[in-house]
Amino acid sequence: MKREQSAQLFEEAKQYFPGGVNSPVRAFKSVSGPPLFIKRGEGCRMYDEDDNELIDFCCSWGPLILGHNNQKVRELVTETVARGTSFGTPTRLGNELGKLILENNRFVEKIRFVSSGTEAVMSAIRLARGATGKQKIIKFEGCYHGHVDSLLVKAGSGLATFGESTSAGIPDVFAKETLVLPLNNPEALDKVLQTHADDIACIIIEPIPANNGLLLQDKSFLECLRLKCYKYGILLIFDEVISGFRIGFEGASGHYGIQPDILTYGKIIGGGMPVGMYGASRELMSHIAPEGAVYQAGTLSANPVAMAAGYAAIQQLLEDNFYEKLTNKTNYFTQQIQSYADSKGYEMTLPHIGSIFWVAFTKERITRADQIETASMEKFKVLHHELLQRGVYLGPSGYEVGFVSAAHTEADLDEAVQKICESLDVVFGG
Ligand SMILES: *Cc1c(COP(=O)(O)O)cnc(C)c1O
Repeated sequence: MKREQSAQLFEEAKQYFPGGVNSPVRAFKSVSGPPLFIKRGEGCRMYDEDDNELIDFCCSWGPLILGHNNQKVRELVTETVARGTSFGTPTRLGNELGKLILENNRFVEKIRFVSSGTEAVMSAIRLARGATGKQKIIKFEGCYHGHVDSLLVKAGSGLATFGESTSAGIPDVFAKETLVLPLNNPEALDKVLQTHADDIACIIIEPIPANNGLLLQDKSFLECLRLKCYKYGILLIFDEVISGFRIGFEGASGHYGIQPDILTYGKIIGGGMPVGMYGASRELMSHIAPEGAVYQAGTLSANPVAMAAGYAAIQQLLEDNFYEKLTNKTNYFTQQIQSYADSKGYEMTLPHIGSIFWVAFTKERITRADQIETASMEKFKVLHHELLQRGVYLGPSGYEVGFVSAAHTEADLDEAVQKICESLDVVFGG
C-alpha cells in the first residue's frame, strides 16, 4: 500500500500539532507507519490521500453508525448550513432533536446538549456533586470518560484506594477525590463503601466498557451498583457516550433494564458533528443553571448544524428493526472469523455486543482491564499492518473496539472476513 501522501502530510502536521495530531490515539503510535490522512468516505468505505480504499470498522471512533456520508444527514446539514452556522440562541432544530430523544428514551426526562462526550461527563459529575453536596466519586479501572481532570485517574499503588492521575497537570487534590475500583467486583465495591459511602457523590461507569478492550460486565454487577447507590444515597452515572444509541436506541440502560440517575451521551448523537448530552430526571436536572445552582454553559451548544446532523441520524435509528439487523450482521461477521480462527487453533476470541466487537488475543473471558496482556498488543500491531495492506481499517490500537455500521452490507462483510482471515494467518504464522 502506498502511504507517500499521508507520510508527507504527517511530516507537515508535526510542525503544527503536538505529535502531528489533534487527538493522541490518531498518531498510530502503537501500530506501524504514519497515520492515514483520509479525504473522503462513502458508506462503509473511506479513501486516503494516496487513493487507497479501506473498509472502515473504526467509523470515526463510533459516531458513524450509519456509515460515511449518509444521504439524509448530508442533506439536512446542507440545507441547515445554508441559513447560517450558529446564532447563540435557542433554535427549533434543538427542540426537535430534544423531543425525538425524550419521546424514545425512558431513562431521561430532561436533557442538556453540549459539544463533546468529555463535556457531558464533566457536567454530569458537577451535577452529581451539586445535587448531593458530596465531593468524592468512584470510577472503575479500564473505563474511559474523556479527558476530565478528576477522571484521568487510575488506582493508586498498593492498598491505597485513592487515585493517582494518569496525566501531568492534574492537581493531587483532584485525583484524591476519585476512588478507583476494579470492574465486575462487588466485594471491592462493598469494602470501599463501608468506609467512604457518606462522602461519595456518584459512581460513574461505562455500563458496556468499550475503551480498553470490550470488558462486558455481569448484569448482576451493574444491578449491584444500582442497589448500593440507592442504599447509600449515591448517584449512579452511566456514561453511555459509546453505548448510547449503539446498543439499541436506549443504549445499555435499555439493554440491561437498569435506570441510572444521570446519563451521558456523545458520539452517535451528533451524526458525525460535535454533540454531547447529559440527562436525568426532571427533578435532578432542575439543579442546572438557569433553573438551579449548578453552572454549565456553551457558546456553540446545540448549534443548528450539529442539531441537524444529530436529528437526521437519530431519526433513522428508529426505523423498524434497525438494531436487530445491525446486531445480526455483526453476529454473522464475528462468527465467521471465530470459526476460521477455531479451525486453525488460533488463540483469539471476538467479544461482541450489538454492533461493537473487539479482537482479543486470548480464549478467556475478560471483564477487567488488568486481564489484558500487554504482549498481545504485538499481535495486534501485525494484524493492523496486514489489514491496511488488504484495505481494512481498524482503530490503530489493540485496546480499541471496532464498529459495524448500517452501511456495511453482507458482501462488504464477506470481503472483510476474507481479508481478516488472511491477515490472521500472518499474525499466527498459519
Ligand atoms: C469517547 C468517550 C468519551 C469522550 O468523548 P469525547 O467526545 O471524545 O470528548 C467519554 N466517555 C466515553 C464512554 C467515551 O467512549
